[in-house]
Amino acid sequence: MPDASLASSPLQVLQQVFGYPAFRGQQQAIIERVSSGDDALVLMPTGGGKSLCYQIPAIVRQRQGLGCSIVVSPLVALMHDQVYALQEAGVAAAYLNSTLSLEQARQVEQDLLTGRLTMLYVAPERLTTPRFLDLLQRLYQRQQLALFAIDEAHCVSQWGHDFRPEYRQLDILPQQFPGVPRIALTATADHLTRQDIAERLQLEQAESFVSSFDRPNIRYTIVEKRDALAQLKRFIEDEHEGDAGVVYCLSRKRVEEVAEALVREGIDAMPYHAGMDASQRQANQDRFLREEGVVMVATIAFGMGIDKPDVRFVAHLDLPRNIESYYQETGRAGRDGLPSHAWMAYGLQDVVNQRRMIDDSPADDQFKQVQTGKLDALLALAEAIDCRRVRLLAYFGEPSRPCGNCDNCLNPPDVWDATELARKLLSTVFRLQEKSGFGFGAGQVMDVLRGRDTDKVKQYGHDTLSTFGLARGASEAELRTVLRQLVATGALLVDASRFNTLHLTPVARPILRGEQPVLLRHLVTPSARRRASGTTRSGSSKLSVLAAQLDDAGRQRFDALKRWRAETAREHGVPAYVIFHDSVLAAIAEACPDTLDALSGISGVGEAKLERYGRAVLQQLELA
Ligand code: ADP
Ligand code: ZN
Repeated sequence: MPDASLASSPLQVLQQVFGYPAFRGQQQAIIERVSSGDDALVLMPTGGGKSLCYQIPAIVRQRQGLGCSIVVSPLVALMHDQVYALQEAGVAAAYLNSTLSLEQARQVEQDLLTGRLTMLYVAPERLTTPRFLDLLQRLYQRQQLALFAIDEAHCVSQWGHDFRPEYRQLDILPQQFPGVPRIALTATADHLTRQDIAERLQLEQAESFVSSFDRPNIRYTIVEKRDALAQLKRFIEDEHEGDAGVVYCLSRKRVEEVAEALVREGIDAMPYHAGMDASQRQANQDRFLREEGVVMVATIAFGMGIDKPDVRFVAHLDLPRNIESYYQETGRAGRDGLPSHAWMAYGLQDVVNQRRMIDDSPADDQFKQVQTGKLDALLALAEAIDCRRVRLLAYFGEPSRPCGNCDNCLNPPDVWDATELARKLLSTVFRLQEKSGFGFGAGQVMDVLRGRDTDKVKQYGHDTLSTFGLARGASEAELRTVLRQLVATGALLVDASRFNTLHLTPVARPILRGEQPVLLRHLVTPSARRRASGTTRSGSSKLSVLAAQLDDAGRQRFDALKRWRAETAREHGVPAYVIFHDSVLAAIAEACPDTLDALSGISGVGEAKLERYGRAVLQQLELA
C-alpha cells in the first residue's frame, strides 16, 4: 500500500531505514536508476554493498504504490539472513523456499497477493514453477510487481564457476513480465560471464555498472609452506585470536584433520565438507554464522552466499585452482570494510597437485590449456616479489599502484639472484636423464647437487656426473625454493604418471644459457618471520582495530554492548550482526550517546532499530 507519510527518496530511505548517512561508490547512480524503473547490470566486489542496490529501490517503489519486488537468490542460508536483517530494519520482507511448511508457504503467498510485502526472496526453482508464475501474473495484471532482482547472477553462465541450470530459465522473466525492471548483480568480473548474463537475462540494453574490484581492507599474505598446520596455528594465534575465519583445504580428509588439530590447540574450529551428514553440515554453518569467533575449516563447498560481514581472515592451506577462485574465496573476509586478512601457505607440492589435476581431468586439450594458463597466473602471483594487489587487479584488467597493505609492500622481500643455482639444477636434471635414459625426482636431483653419496646415487653412478656436489653449500630448503619456482614458471615439468620425475621444457633453455635471470625472495627463517609479523600486526588482529581506538571505559562499554547483543540475538534467533555490526557497536561505545536522538546519529542505527533497541542500548551504556 502506498503510504504518503513515508519518505520515498533513495537517500531518505538509506538514512531512515538503514541508518547510513551516505551512499557508497556507485550505489546512488544504480539505485536512482532502478528506482525509476530502468534495468541495470551491477558488477561489484563482495562487500561492495550490492544488497542495498535492490533493497532500496524495492522500498522506494513499494512506497510509490508499485507493489512487491521479487529477489532471486540461490542459497537458502543467504535468503534467511537477508530477510531477518530486513525485518529487523522494519521492512516487510519474506522468503519462499523448501524450509517452509506448506501452511507457512501459503501464508507468504497470501501476504504477497494482498500487498503486504515489500520484498519476497525466492529460489530460482521455486520462481519458475507454474504455481508461482501464476501468482506473479496476477500481481502483474494489477501492476503490483515492482522489480526483479537477480542476485549472484553469474550462476546463469556456464563460464561462471557456480553454474546453476535453474538460473537459465530466468529468461522467462522478460518474456512473461515485460516492463517490470530487472537488476542483475554479481561479484564475478570476467568478460565472458558478463556477456552471458546480459544475453541470458536480456539485459543487453541495460546500463552496466562496473565497480573497482579492489578490496583495500584485505591484506594479502602468501607464505612459503613448511609445516602448514603449525604455520596456520601461529597465524591464528599471533594475529587472529578469537576472530571468525575460514580455512580452505583441498580434501575432505584434510579438512577433518585440520579442524581437529585446531580444536586441540584450543581454537573454536569446525569442519565443513560435502561428505558430511547434511544436518551436521547445516548445524556447523549455523554456528559459524550465529556465533562469534568461530573458525570454519572447509572445502570450497563452503562459502557461496555466506554473508557474514565480520569474517576477519580467510586462510588457504592449499592452492586454489585459479585467481578467480582465490579472489572469490578471499573476498569473503572483511565484508564490513574493517581490516581483514587473506593468508595462504604455498609450496612445491601444491604446484604438482594442481598441474596433475588439470592433466588428469577428462576435459579436451583446449580446456586444459585455458586451465593451465589460469594456474600459471596464480603461480606468478604466489611467487611475486612485488605488490600482490597490483597483480590481482591487473588480472581483472584494472591498473593500480603498490598498495602498502600486502606482505610484499609491508616487508619488501630481499631478493637474491638464484640464476646460477637454477642453472646448476636444470643441468643436473638434464644430465640425470642423459646418463640413465629416464628422469628422476626432486630428491635425487638435490642429493646429486649437494654431493651426497646415498645408495641411490651410487647405484646409478650419479656421483660421477659433472654436476655432482656443485651446490654443496646450498640447503635443501633453498634448493626446494628454486625448484618450485622453476616448476611454477614451467621450466621444469613434473611427470605425475612416472613417479613425479622432473623433465626440462623449452622454457628452461634461456635460463640454462644464462640469458634469463632467476630472482627469488630470500628465505626467511621461522623466527625471523615471527619477528616480522610481530612488527606488522597493527592492522589485523581481532577487534583490536576497533577496540584499540577505544579507551578503557570505551572498551568496557563495547564489551557490555556485545554481551547484550549476543543475548538479544539468541532470543530473536538471528545472527548477532543482524542486530548491529561490530563497527556500529564500536561507534556507539566510543560516542557513548546519552539520548535516543544522539544514538540515532550514529551510522548504522536506523529508525526501526532505534525504536526496538535504542532504550536497551542506552541502558547498557549507563550500566557499563
Ligand atoms: P555485497 O552483497 O556486495 O557483498 P553487502 O550488500 O552485504 O555487500 O554490503 C556489505 C556491507 O556494507 C554490509 O554490512 C552493508 O550493511 C554495508 N553497507 C552497504 N552500503 C553501505 C553504505 N552506503 N553505508 C554504510 N554501510 C554500507
Ligand atoms: Zn601491495
